[in-house]
Amino acid sequence: MVESRQRRTGTDQAMTGIKRIVIVGGGSAGWLTAGVLAAEHRGLELTLLESPDVGPIGVGEGTWPTIRDTLRGIGVTETDFIRECDASFKQGSKFQQWVRQRADDYYFHPFVLPQGYTEANLVAGWLARHPDVPFADLVCFQPHLCAHGKAPKQAVTPEYAAVANYAYHLDAGKFGSFLRKHCVENLGVRLIVDHVIGIDSSDNGDIASVQTREHGALSGDLFVDCTGMQSLLLGQHYGVRFNSQKHVLFNDSALAVQVPYPHDDSPIASQTISTAQSHGWIWDIGLPTRRGVGHVYSSAHTSDEAAERELRQYIERTGGPRDLPSPRKLSFEPGYRDEFWHRNCVAIGLSAGFIEPLEASAIALIELSAAMLRDQMPATREAMDILARRFNDAFSYRWERVIDFLKLHYVLSQRTDSDFWHDNRRAESIPERLREQLALWRHLPPSRYDFHRIEEVFPSASYQYVLYGMGFRPQPSRLPRRSDDLDRADGFFREAAALTGRMLPALPTNRALIEHIKRHGLCRI
Ligand SMILES: Cc1cc2nc3c(=O)[nH]c(=O)nc-3n(C[C@H](O)[C@H](O)[C@H](O)COP(=O)(O)OP(=O)(O)OC[C@H]3O[C@@H](n4cnc5c(N)ncnc54)[C@H](O)[C@@H]3O)c2cc1C
Repeated sequence: MVESRQRRTGTDQAMTGIKRIVIVGGGSAGWLTAGVLAAEHRGLELTLLESPDVGPIGVGEGTWPTIRDTLRGIGVTETDFIRECDASFKQGSKFQQWVRQRADDYYFHPFVLPQGYTEANLVAGWLARHPDVPFADLVCFQPHLCAHGKAPKQAVTPEYAAVANYAYHLDAGKFGSFLRKHCVENLGVRLIVDHVIGIDSSDNGDIASVQTREHGALSGDLFVDCTGMQSLLLGQHYGVRFNSQKHVLFNDSALAVQVPYPHDDSPIASQTISTAQSHGWIWDIGLPTRRGVGHVYSSAHTSDEAAERELRQYIERTGGPRDLPSPRKLSFEPGYRDEFWHRNCVAIGLSAGFIEPLEASAIALIELSAAMLRDQMPATREAMDILARRFNDAFSYRWERVIDFLKLHYVLSQRTDSDFWHDNRRAESIPERLREQLALWRHLPPSRYDFHRIEEVFPSASYQYVLYGMGFRPQPSRLPRRSDDLDRADGFFREAAALTGRMLPALPTNRALIEHIKRHGLCRI
């Protein structure tokens, strides 16, 4: 707990400029935010405070393709990032046994859009002519690259450029250290390692300074709360309400463990493998030197012991050793704050909220938050309240969409092996907007009309991949439309197949490309 104190500052900040930014917290959220702000705003005084007593959470290994632009914008090279963060390429997710509890049940959610996505009704063509082929496998080449362990680019493809859209799997601990070094050495961010013990308020209710144990008071014009789940500034100091989503998404616990590969040259999966379990699911993330594996589950539906048993069985089944150390237990309450920007304090990262690791939305939300703060950095205190309202509106919308999208993975499951899956389909656990969309999607595929804001976290194509991957079958429209031209759709399916045929022999494996980058690096443009 931090102590909140009233301090008479007597300053009228309304017309003063915003120059001193204090970021409290040095996990992925703190350092990404510091990098994004410092790379753009050379005139700001940026200080980042991290506690010597409280480490970063140390999980969060899956990302979204936005991370490439973020890293490029911060000014790090892809070669250094891959070498120093033990990173590998991620081309989407493979969901196993989410529909039925059967070994042959799986579907892909790739990052590449369906071929001809905006030009034809591919869904009509798929249902009419190829209903037995999985949707993603028909409309996109990327699932086939993943199935063959291929990388999304060649050794000669320049840094951050893609043959197939991609993100990364990374070591969260190494990522924080890598960003810290770059921010401090190259971007002029001042690092203070100290523990925050109190918060001082000005007369107007703004935060005037944070009190540290060794360095005294640290004042600023704008404070970024990156203190993780404690949410020291926004949650504890300001008491901004936490909006729990446990009634929608039940998972609140995770067991995480690092699994060695059987051989130095074992293949590195090019996608996150997500396997449904009786009361949750297991993530399996392939890094160059190890796998990161974790079981996310609902403590209301199962015990830690049972969850650990399932995790160990999964690891053994997938070639991991029997004698692994005890997994690390993490607990969280799914949800987000009613506001993210309150007075002169913006929360980014776990301090703003967290739902669950499915689809790796947390780091993507950090990137979006940091980017909006960078682009809309208030010039004065007066401008801050206006921007805060916009920021809150943008991010309330985004958190709601993340919840809808994650819930979509559960509501269409046909699993009957536990209350967990039954409860997930109860109508009262499904957000109203998602219920409405599912009704519309009976007749029309998800489209830009469903997701019309700029920078949606998940595009409509992602909804199509999950919806149809989960076995949802729309009813074909009764009246003909020009865009339902089946031959045209078939042309795009042939294009996707031709691309698959060309790319499979031309692309190296994920491991081969990473080994190449370690030895020679990628070329820069
Ligand atoms: C099980 C699990 C799996 C996840 N998997 C993914 C994933 O695959 N993809 C994804 O995008 N996200 C994932 N996440 C979320 C991801 O881990 C976080 O969003 C990300 O790591 C950012 O965390 P953070 O920086 O907000 O908080 P933290 O890493 O907790 O950092 C908090 C910081 O605050 C500082 N601090 C705390 N108290 C004080 C104090 N009093 N004084 C000074 N400093 C203080 C600490 O020193 C630390 O530096 C996962 C989360 C969980 C729980």
